[in-house]
Amino acid sequence: MSAVFDSASFDDHEAVNFSHCPETGLKAIIAVHSTALGPAAGGCRMRLYEREEEALTDVLRLSRGMTYKNAMAELPLGGGKSVVVGDPAKDKTARLLESLGDAVERLGGDYWIAEDMGIGPEDMAIVARRTRYVAGLAKGKAASGDPSPVTAEGIFRGLKIAVKHKLQRPSVKGLTVAIQGIGHVGYGLARLLHEAGASLVVSDVNQAALKSAVAEFEADVVDPDSIYDVDADVFAPCAAGAILNANTVPRLKVPVVAGAANNQLDVPESGALLKQRGILYAPDYVINGGGIINVAGEILGNYDPAWVRAKLDRLMQTLDAVFTESARQDLSPEVVADRIARQRIEEARLRKAG
Ligand code: NAD
Repeated sequence: MSAVFDSASFDDHEAVNFSHCPETGLKAIIAVHSTALGPAAGGCRMRLYEREEEALTDVLRLSRGMTYKNAMAELPLGGGKSVVVGDPAKDKTARLLESLGDAVERLGGDYWIAEDMGIGPEDMAIVARRTRYVAGLAKGKAASGDPSPVTAEGIFRGLKIAVKHKLQRPSVKGLTVAIQGIGHVGYGLARLLHEAGASLVVSDVNQAALKSAVAEFEADVVDPDSIYDVDADVFAPCAAGAILNANTVPRLKVPVVAGAANNQLDVPESGALLKQRGILYAPDYVINGGGIINVAGEILGNYDPAWVRAKLDRLMQTLDAVFTESARQDLSPEVVADRIARQRIEEARLRKAG
């Protein structure tokens, strides 16, 4: 029996490639979920997965998520993702990254790799020694650099759109936003909100980041578990996934959830619970698409900031339309977004099949 086809996370993926190199210790899985809209693109995550099954589940779910995210951002890209089994602090050698590049090259352009958890731009530069199908480079002709500022801008703008729909407010001035995680995206978001006149409550496990946020934005700090209990106008999850679940959603005291983290809902029922509680949720893979738009600018060649800006504007219009449609049909925003994404992917698949 096959573990891939029978996995609960398998969703008609086009290809799942297992790569192993005994010389370098590489153990990687590359999942190409769909190339209907174009070559599959998505980051590479390196983690010390305890069991192979966990790595497989992660790569299957994440690659499917990329198909949906790229479709909503109207990018000519499909969805893919890769995972490397290992401890990034100990196992990430140049030789291992080169053999990862070989594995990507063997797919002949069906999959474009970029950074994700445990893998940075400096690692991509090594992968690029062996394959041209690399994005997220810091240097070079088409390099797009760190996507986080574009992601943060998209979250800021998307959050304002959610506020407009739910609170009928034209700006965030005078509102309170609770941010979970002030890392690359969360800190940029905090700056934009502060400049726009919002008050901030923040949580993080990194004390240095908290200290900066207090000094720079006069943010109030709460401990990591208390962020769900903050009485605020918006909750912006910008750290880990699956934080909207049966334990946390009943605790929320906010009318809007809009943040950067991937896979915020642990299960679809948590989205239904948010709706039942009257909380407007900005679907994560729509609002956080700024980063992949920036990366796409590199994949498609000749990185052009004006093209990135136009795509981000368009994504924000899509998010606005998702909220309008969800109110009209009395459906959760993520249900509406899923339908739009599925339709775009299916139409592209049929076009490609001729
Ligand atoms: P990051 O690692 O720079 O920041 C995450 C922050 O969360 C860190 O400061 C970390 O200390 C903090 N954190 C960890 N556990 C926490 C906890 N329990 N409570 C509070 N804070 C905690 O990551 P990032 O690049 O800012 O990305 C944030 C999220 O947004 C991730 O889920 C990522 O997948 C998603 N995302 C990022 C981008 C991007 O362009 N960077 C694009 C799309 C989605």
